[in-house]
Amino acid sequence: MSLVKEKDLLCQQFLAKPKKLLIDGKWVEPETGKTFDTLNPATGEVLAKVSEGGKADVDKAVKAARKAFEQGPWRNKMSAAERARCLYKLADLVEQKADELAQLETLDNGKPIKESRYFDVPAVAETLRYYAGWATKLEGETINVNNSFFTYTLREPVGVVGQIIPWNFPMLMAAWKLGPALACGNTVILKPAEQTPLSALYLGELTLEAGFPEGVVNIVTGLGPNSAGEFLANHMDVDKVAFTGEDKTGREIVKASLGNLKRVSLELGGKAPNIVFADADIDAAVKGAITGIFFNQGQVCCAGSRLFLEKSVHDQFMTKLTERVGKMRQGPGLDENTQIGPQVSKEQQERVLNYVGIAQKEGAKLVCGGAAPKGDLEKGYYVKPTIFEGVNNDMRIAQEEVFGPVLAVIPFTSVEEVAEQANKTTFGLSGAVWTRDIKKAHKLAAHIKAGTIWVNCFNVLNTAVPFGGYKMSGYGRELGKHSIELYTNIKSVWVNLD
Ligand code: ADP
Repeated sequence: MSLVKEKDLLCQQFLAKPKKLLIDGKWVEPETGKTFDTLNPATGEVLAKVSEGGKADVDKAVKAARKAFEQGPWRNKMSAAERARCLYKLADLVEQKADELAQLETLDNGKPIKESRYFDVPAVAETLRYYAGWATKLEGETINVNNSFFTYTLREPVGVVGQIIPWNFPMLMAAWKLGPALACGNTVILKPAEQTPLSALYLGELTLEAGFPEGVVNIVTGLGPNSAGEFLANHMDVDKVAFTGEDKTGREIVKASLGNLKRVSLELGGKAPNIVFADADIDAAVKGAITGIFFNQGQVCCAGSRLFLEKSVHDQFMTKLTERVGKMRQGPGLDENTQIGPQVSKEQQERVLNYVGIAQKEGAKLVCGGAAPKGDLEKGYYVKPTIFEGVNNDMRIAQEEVFGPVLAVIPFTSVEEVAEQANKTTFGLSGAVWTRDIKKAHKLAAHIKAGTIWVNCFNVLNTAVPFGGYKMSGYGRELGKHSIELYTNIKSVWVNLD
């Protein structure tokens, strides 16, 4: 087994350091005096003790961010090009530390090291660079009203921004949030998920090295309800909250925003239909279905968790699918050969296994998986890749977000039938269609109510392409130029020329 030994880990030195809060450019102890443990999901062992930020800590961080926004050099002295340079430098530092960051991400989240190293970390650098480029390209407009007025718009940063992120792509979600917010000249308080706070703290160290002025990037670790997350969401001096996580938590964020009616953007869950027609390239669709549901242990908001199979290819597809899934190598993320790691936490493992029970009670047929593996992996939070067939779209397994490696296979006979079923969900983050018929593909792409549609592919993302939800998958679009909208205000200026 090509598992890196603990003593050889590049991130060992970082792990050994105390984990404080980054406030006003300095690492400080939490006012609460409390810490919480972050665990290695492959073993259940404690990786590090992390500061539990409370109300006083959030207050301090918001004050620092406000001061940096109103009085600091970030907006008053630095040019857009200088702000861009900080982001470019941060991207360079991420690349320099790529191996170490990848190990840290895998240790804390559980994901396969190959994914951390070749997907997450490069995507972090790419995102930061993409938005660094935007810093110098923000523009207002002039509007011809009449000869009595010179009228123009200014695109201004929103101000102090709270960013609450989840544990499935800890560092990448930090980059999706920090990149555009900072490029637009905002100041930020980032609250990483309590399950996976380490890579954000590492990124915090790198922001200091990259030259961001004090108070521009603040990082407050802590929990959600009645802790750092909630205090940030309802803080009266936070101008905007950007949130990625569960729909249930999204509602809490919206409620918390009511005090000062702060702007909110939400990227929540999904229950994506992945539709395979008989005329598709079946081998490609099988691979797509696997990536769609098992990538990142199924802990992906745009996961293809509802696989709709046209009846005439159902059996052939299932044979190929189960054969491939049966060969997937499950193990600790640090093993180079691992294709599927543990779930992020015991809580998530239990949640997923609970859904297995629910699906069985509802009459879905378990084809493979459905349990935690025994033996060497027992201490970790693993769930075997799981497939249910004979699922009906009304079952809970087809309607509720499992957020784990559980695929619900639903047979269909006509385009009309599958088109209707695809939209029978409260979510609308993504969907996919596999067919060689371009008319069918485009018609369904227009019909499915979701923010991203993939045709003959799945889980393809790019920093330049917007991402976000319809319906209960949230509102606002991240990535591309659309993220700039989330982090700027438009001001209209009228100059009387008479
Ligand atoms: P999960 O339930 O899968 O852990 P969450 O949506 O609860 O996902 O978590 C995403 C992020 O939201 C985490 O950083 C978490 O600490 C935070 N969070 C959870 N509850 C709240 C809340 N009530 N207010 C603000 N943040 C919260």
